[in-house]
Amino acid sequence: MGKVALFIVDVQGDFLPPDGSLQVPAGLLVPPAIISLLRDHKYHWDYIVVSQDYHPPGHISFASSHPGHKVYSDVELKDGRGILYEQKLWPDHCIQGTKGCEIEPELAAKLAKRGDIVKLVRKGWHKDVEAYSAFDGYMSDFNNPAVPPTELDLQPQRKIVQWLREQGVTKVVVTGLAAEHCVAHTALSAVASRFQTAVLQPATRAIEDRDAEEQWDKLCAVGARVIGRSNRPRTLRWEDELTRWLATDNAGAWPDWKQK
Ligand SMILES: [Zn+2]
Repeated sequence: MGKVALFIVDVQGDFLPPDGSLQVPAGLLVPPAIISLLRDHKYHWDYIVVSQDYHPPGHISFASSHPGHKVYSDVELKDGRGILYEQKLWPDHCIQGTKGCEIEPELAAKLAKRGDIVKLVRKGWHKDVEAYSAFDGYMSDFNNPAVPPTELDLQPQRKIVQWLREQGVTKVVVTGLAAEHCVAHTALSAVASRFQTAVLQPATRAIEDRDAEEQWDKLCAVGARVIGRSNRPRTLRWEDELTRWLATDNAGAWPDWKQK
């Protein structure tokens, strides 16, 4: 049986009430939900990958960096790699060294005790590159975070995917904030890299529930599982659904995937 990595996406001050600059309304339910997943001996997490939105001041995703454009409007931009893309403009958030950038303290304390199995991915660290997926950053040890690299890696996903494969990880469970943005993008990356992928809805919350539902449909269509989906009739408790999914050998869209 392959190993399992729990992804904890962007559980940071700025995404949480009451003080965050980019709050997810029910975000405060997420840290305790993840802590109970870590505590519960029913589940075994071989590795834990924690992502941290880690922007320098003046980041390309901030409305304040584009005078004349409003927060939450969409603009077409060219990023630091020369790629044209559509950016939703956000309030300033998760600026390196600020309180809003820190991982929620109670969760961070629990993670620090897990030692080397916990990795930290810092993303959006380059002033002119946006990153939603937890695969789009640079990885170091949670308890010994590295400073940002000096050069842009044009394919950051490759290193993280390779590391996970080398550890024998075949399953990825995604939790955190915000559901329809960084959580959904992380899950899509995991599917694209052929990990068996599940999103755990009780351990994520959205800014807009409707947008999250759209993302869940997209994920289900490509073979991911959304566990504990709240608006679906259910015969199983989400805890049992998760246990069963973790115990299934071929729980993904690509059952034949094997480590080369
Ligand atoms: Zn950001």
